[in-house]
Amino acid sequence: MKAIVVKPGSPGVSLTDRKSPPKKDGLVTLTPRLVGICGTDREIISAYYGQAPPGEELLTIGHESLCAVSDPGSSGLKEGQLVIPTVRRSCGACWSCLHGQSDMCFTGNYTERGIKGLDGYNSESVVESMDYIAPVPDGIGDFAVLTEPMTIGEKAITQSLNLQKRVEWAWNCNDGLSCKKALVLGTGPVGLLAALIAKVRGFRVWAADRHGADTERALLLKSAGVEHIDSQTTSLTDYASSIGQFDMIVEATGDAAVGLDMIPSLGPNGIIALTGIPGGSQVYQMPAVQIMRSIVLRNLVVVGIVNANLSYFRDALNDMVSIEKKYPGVLAKMVTHRFAPEEFAAAYSEKGADVVKVTIDWTK
Ligand SMILES: [Zn+2]
Ligand SMILES: [Zn+2]
Repeated sequence: MKAIVVKPGSPGVSLTDRKSPPKKDGLVTLTPRLVGICGTDREIISAYYGQAPPGEELLTIGHESLCAVSDPGSSGLKEGQLVIPTVRRSCGACWSCLHGQSDMCFTGNYTERGIKGLDGYNSESVVESMDYIAPVPDGIGDFAVLTEPMTIGEKAITQSLNLQKRVEWAWNCNDGLSCKKALVLGTGPVGLLAALIAKVRGFRVWAADRHGADTERALLLKSAGVEHIDSQTTSLTDYASSIGQFDMIVEATGDAAVGLDMIPSLGPNGIIALTGIPGGSQVYQMPAVQIMRSIVLRNLVVVGIVNANLSYFRDALNDMVSIEKKYPGVLAKMVTHRFAPEEFAAAYSEKGADVVKVTIDWTK
C-alpha cells in the first residue's frame, strides 16, 4: 500500500510502498479519507523528533485523520461508517493510562500514532482497536478531519470549566456563560476551533492574531460572532483593560512571550490554559513581578494542556454538531487545501495567512 513516510533521524519525507497492516481479531480495519497536516508533522519531517515503530526504519506520518470503516470485525461499527481514531496509546503501567486517560500519562512511555513508536494515518489502510475510535455523528462531513486539532480546545475549555468550579457561583450567569469573557490567542486551527467551542459553550469570545481584519480566518470568526483583534495594530493588554479584563484565556500561539504577557490581563479568579509548545531556548525579558503578583492577588489559575483522550474526541464531534447547526458552513471553510498523496511535497510546504487546514486526500 502507498504511505507517506519519514526516516526518523534524517530530515525529509517521501511517498513509498509499505506492507499493509495485518488484520487481527478484535481490531477494526480503516481506510483513511483525509489526513490533516500541522506543525508537528513539519517538525517530524525536519527530524526534530519522531520515532519509528520497534524494529522498523520508517515511520508513516499523519495523526489527524478522518477514516471510513472498511472491515468492522466484531466492533459493532458499520462498513463505510466515518470514524476518527485518536493519537496517543497507553503506557500500560500508570494510573492515568490504566484509567483511559493516556493524555495525563505519568511515565512518558506512551506511544503516539504518526509521532512516537506507532505508524500514523497517511496510508491506504490502518487497523485500530475500538478503544481508540470515535464514530462521526450524522450530518458531519469531511470537516470531521478537524476533530484532532479541536480536541485541544475541548480539553482546554473542559478543564478550565472544571477548575473554575472553585468559583462556580460566579461562573453561572443567568443564561449560562454569557457574562464570561474568553480570549483565544492565535488563529491557527487549534485557536480557531477553540474560539468556536467557547462560542457554542456560551462565552463572549475574542480571538487575536497578527493578521488583518480581511483574512479568511478573521472572516470565519466574524461569521460565528467572534470578535477579531489584530495584535499588530491593537495592544492586547490595553484592549483587555478597555473591556474590563478576561475571565478565561486559551493560548494557542506557541509564543512564550505572548502567552505569559497576557496573564495580568485576566480578571479576579480567572484562568489561562496554555496549549502552545514554544521551541528554541530564547531568553525573554518578562514583567515577572507583575505576572506573579497578578497570579497571587487575583487567585489566577495557569494550566498546561497537551494531547487528548477519547472523551475529548467525542466532545469535539458533539460540539461540531452544535457549531454546524448554529454557524453552518464555517467548519467546512476551515479545510482550505486538499492534496493528493502524490502531491505531498506541496502539501507540507503550503503556508500563508489564508491557509487554515491543509489535508492529504486519500480518496483522490
Ligand atoms: Zn496535529
Ligand atoms: Zn501512562
